[in-house]
Amino acid sequence: MIKLAADLHIHSCLSPCCDDDMTPNNLVNMAYVKRLEAIALTDHNTAKNLPAAKAVADARGLVFLPGIEVETREEVHVLTYFETVEQAMDFGEYIYKHLPDIENMPDFFGAQFALDENDAPIYEEKRMLLQAVTLSIEEVAAACRARGGVPVPAHINRASNSLLYNLGFIPPDLDFASVEVYKHSPIEGVDLSPYHVIYNSDAHRLQSISEAENHVFVREKSAAGILAFLREKK
Ligand SMILES: [Zn+2]
Ligand SMILES: [Zn+2]
Repeated sequence: MIKLAADLHIHSCLSPCCDDDMTPNNLVNMAYVKRLEAIALTDHNTAKNLPAAKAVADARGLVFLPGIEVETREEVHVLTYFETVEQAMDFGEYIYKHLPDIENMPDFFGAQFALDENDAPIYEEKRMLLQAVTLSIEEVAAACRARGGVPVPAHINRASNSLLYNLGFIPPDLDFASVEVYKHSPIEGVDLSPYHVIYNSDAHRLQSISEAENHVFVREKSAAGILAFLREKK
């Protein structure tokens, strides 16, 4: 097994709540400076900054895992990971079809820009990304898996938008192999022994990106290798 220092939950400037300087180049370079070996970009309900972030991460020699953090109908956040940017983009289009057509208020929530690999704006998303889609957590998990992806419930112990807070338990029928635990919140009375537990930053600003202190264990140093780890039952 290869031990990879990873941060698999990072937002970019396309997420409305995120700092504008979380550009593809800035976030990848910060991860590089922090000696991370693998990162995932997981914007809220969109995949549109993945192509640029993947190009920049490849150039830096970081393993890049394409992702989206979906907010389900139950207002639970689920990280969805894919082997390729194309699979993630396809899933992103599916998610977008189920995202209510409510306009973003850039002055209040922040602008939502997709950038190219030189951090130049290529698209402004006008629809509010930080809201629940109309799909249930079952539907999100199934659609992710149908595209070869792996769903991982996000920050399950946080006091909002989480499995334990919103639903009160980890539904066994959803068949999760991995869960993300938020380091800065307590977790009690939950048996995590059946799951791989991952810890990430959920960074919305550059300085919040993880130090090289959280790891995944892979057979292959690649996106496919990380997916296999997240998918494999303990
Ligand atoms: Zn979240
Ligand atoms: Zn997040």
